Amino acid sequence: MHEMTIVTSILAIARERAAAAGATVITAVEVEVGRLAGVEIPALEFCFLAARGHEVGEQAELVIHEIPGLGRCPACAAESAMDFYAAVCPNCGKAALEVVQGRELKVRSIRVED
Ligand SMILES: [Zn+2]
Repeated sequence: MHEMTIVTSILAIARERAAAAGATVITAVEVEVGRLAGVEIPALEFCFLAARGHEVGEQAELVIHEIPGLGRCPACAAESAMDFYAAVCPNCGKAALEVVQGRELKVRSIRVED
């Protein structure tokens, strides 16, 4: 499963950051997931719950910040909300939108116990 690979790297990043901060207990991992990142959020949550015990402990929560898709038209320069790739510009209808935002997939921060 694609999402398990993503979760594995999220957990690795979370552990590195906790180690760098001298923390031993991670209480939450906050991630940013763009609507156009091709990630199934329920699958991501499921994989996180399955994998967290070995990696960061059962107490760690996954907090997901969804980033909406935004595209810019190369023909008329209008910016529009974008929920899927190759969406045609709703303003002029002449060109496919170029992705400006929504491909994010990253660890925003971790929360640790003091
Ligand atoms: Zn346009």
